[in-house]
Amino acid sequence: MKIVLIGPPGVGKGTQAILIAEEFGMEHFSIGDIFREILKGSSELSLKLERYVNKGELVPDDIVFETVKETISKDESTGWVLDGYPRNKNQAELLDSFLKGENGSLDYAICLKSNKDVLIERLSSRRVCSNCGAIYNLQMNPPKEKNTCDECGETLIQRKDDVRETVEKRILIFLREFTPLYTYYCDQGIIREVNSDDSVGEVFGRVKDILSNG
Ligand SMILES: [Zn+2]
Repeated sequence: MKIVLIGPPGVGKGTQAILIAEEFGMEHFSIGDIFREILKGSSELSLKLERYVNKGELVPDDIVFETVKETISKDESTGWVLDGYPRNKNQAELLDSFLKGENGSLDYAICLKSNKDVLIERLSSRRVCSNCGAIYNLQMNPPKEKNTCDECGETLIQRKDDVRETVEKRILIFLREFTPLYTYYCDQGIIREVNSDDSVGEVFGRVKDILSNG
């Protein structure tokens, strides 16, 4: 099975992807991890990628795709779940044309959906340890002691990305690209929507049902 997980920032794609991979014995590829892994190397692709990341610029679709392709084409196993990719219709088309060349295709595009206010609340509740980078959520996964890291005792901070105004902007930018992507997968008949406002376990129950029964 080949699956992409799509949906807004903060909807829990990473967590669900890990659970899917475990349950169905698939590989889990996260675009964030792929980027970090490639940036560690010194290939031509690493250098290209580095140029954009260092300048804080958006990485162009063709370079993002090159990184994805390099990872998924190494994988000969039973299947994979990709989270954080594609983000727009153009990226989806690049992925499709690559899979077609390998005589494959996507089985499902699982779309995690959430109420916008819930997302804004959830993202702006995120705190990070200023020392070890451990991630907390004041609502879902609070530290034992207020504003203090459970792991190392340092102070927790809020990243600029997670400040409410920035979160609202991130969601708006997401939606602009998401609508054409959603329609693209709808037209292929592979989109499956999952309401993600409930607990991780409940959401995964729904995902599991789809992947087991279609
Ligand atoms: Zn810490």
